[in-house]
Amino acid sequence: MDAQIIAELVEIVGADNVLTAPTDMITHSYDATQKCYMPDVVVYAEKTDEVARVVRLANRLKISVLPRGAGSGFSGGSLPVQGGIVLVLTRMTKILDIDSDNLTAEVEPGVITAELQRQVEKLGLFYPPDPASKEFSTLGGNVAECAGGPRCVKYGVTKDYVLGLEVVTPTGDIIHTGGKTLKNVVGYDLTKLFVGSEGTLGIVTKIILKLLPKPAAKKTMLVQFETIEGAAKSVAAIIGAKIIPATLEFMDGATIDCIRPTSPIPLPEACQAILIIEVDGDAAMLDPQIARIQDIIKSFGILSVRIAASHEESEEIWQVRRNVSPSLRRVNPDKFNEDIVVPRSKVPDMIRTLEKISTDYGVPIVNFGHAGDGNIHVNIMVDLRHHGMAEKVERVLDEVFQAVIALRGSISGEHGIGTAKAKYLGMELDATTISYMQRIKDAFDPNHILNPGKIFSYNSNHLPVKTGNN
Ligand SMILES: Cc1cc2nc3c(=O)[nH]c(=O)nc-3n(C[C@H](O)[C@H](O)[C@H](O)COP(=O)(O)OP(=O)(O)OC[C@H]3O[C@@H](n4cnc5c(N)ncnc54)[C@H](O)[C@@H]3O)c2cc1C
Repeated sequence: MDAQIIAELVEIVGADNVLTAPTDMITHSYDATQKCYMPDVVVYAEKTDEVARVVRLANRLKISVLPRGAGSGFSGGSLPVQGGIVLVLTRMTKILDIDSDNLTAEVEPGVITAELQRQVEKLGLFYPPDPASKEFSTLGGNVAECAGGPRCVKYGVTKDYVLGLEVVTPTGDIIHTGGKTLKNVVGYDLTKLFVGSEGTLGIVTKIILKLLPKPAAKKTMLVQFETIEGAAKSVAAIIGAKIIPATLEFMDGATIDCIRPTSPIPLPEACQAILIIEVDGDAAMLDPQIARIQDIIKSFGILSVRIAASHEESEEIWQVRRNVSPSLRRVNPDKFNEDIVVPRSKVPDMIRTLEKISTDYGVPIVNFGHAGDGNIHVNIMVDLRHHGMAEKVERVLDEVFQAVIALRGSISGEHGIGTAKAKYLGMELDATTISYMQRIKDAFDPNHILNPGKIFSYNSNHLPVKTGNN
């Protein structure tokens, strides 16, 4: 990148916050998709004003700016696909306020999700959204992706907790949306617009979050099933009985095969599906709820039920779930991780379809996820070194997404579109709806400098191509 531009960036954020060494470019070139694109420069901002000045400079020179949190995204949202300035927010780590009277918190975007949860829980409060990445993902990244997690079946996703935002727009203005109150109907709801906008409409520099009182107690159970069909029917039956557990996670037989060697709980070969069910609330309510769930699912081919009697036993159960992602990666590094979502009652239909697609194409498909809200992590396990495998995966994905749409589901429940699914946008949204979204993008970002090529693909006629060198 031009030395004059580097000098201007150094003037804004200081020399320690501007990185140009090749090693630094590499460490900011990828996310959890494991795709890799080199930035032209990496800039760390520590204050809103610095973010605004960097963006104004980039907008004046028409250079792409790629907001980045922890880089744990699963859809390529933070990748500098055509170079540009990677603007990292992880040094904006202040928890500015935890207001126990109004049940709100105000944070900077670089705060790690689990760190906020720990701090509010010390005060008897609760921030529910719990992506499995919570120990390293940032709240800014959670807001940009509208992150979800196991607890979202009962408590909702990130957008249900964002009350207000401070945002730097792509032209470098600083705007404020929403506020500290639960109710607010003044003007358009820009807060909701920014949540889930994947860093394409603005850079979030402050977040006001809603908190809840911490549930008094919780109880965790792990149920092993003979068949995936039994587990899927159990999910539909629990929800059908109008019980909403705090979490309702499932794993299929292929997932269990991957985690069996490292599981802290014995998982026999006969176990072809697992549900992890957690209920929370008043302690006195939990045993009756667990008993009712056991009664509802007892006819669906259960091998065993383990109910945690202590925090440690509950953690042991959750360790089974946490082992999934690393185990899958160990078994097959070329996994394609999709996060489809279908109406809850359609989970059994979707599982059957996935099994059929897997058989038809001779490609292992491993499924686990948040069955309680219909969000299934579909992992297509392939070795891309095999001739023609990449094309085969394309066809498999196409069929999976077509099946999802046919069941009135969505191709992404929590990971976002980014670059990974941009070409499938038109499968779910009609052209007129997409054109309105593009007009919103145009209104905020007339020069298309902010996170270009995300959501709407580069080769869409609508978007001019921007590089870090123009
Ligand atoms: C092991 C693992 C488990 C995961 N589990 C879950 C899960 O259970 N649920 C779930 O929803 N996701 C999950 N994810 C995906 C990922 O962690 C989330 O999408 C998370 O919200 C990304 O946060 P981040 O800080 O890493 O953001 P990044 O990956 O750095 O960025 C993600 C997107 O947000 C934008 N962005 C980042 N910060 C800002 C900001 N301040 N303002 C505007 N835009 C910004 C980026 O441009 C990009 O488009 C998982 C990922 C991994 C690796």
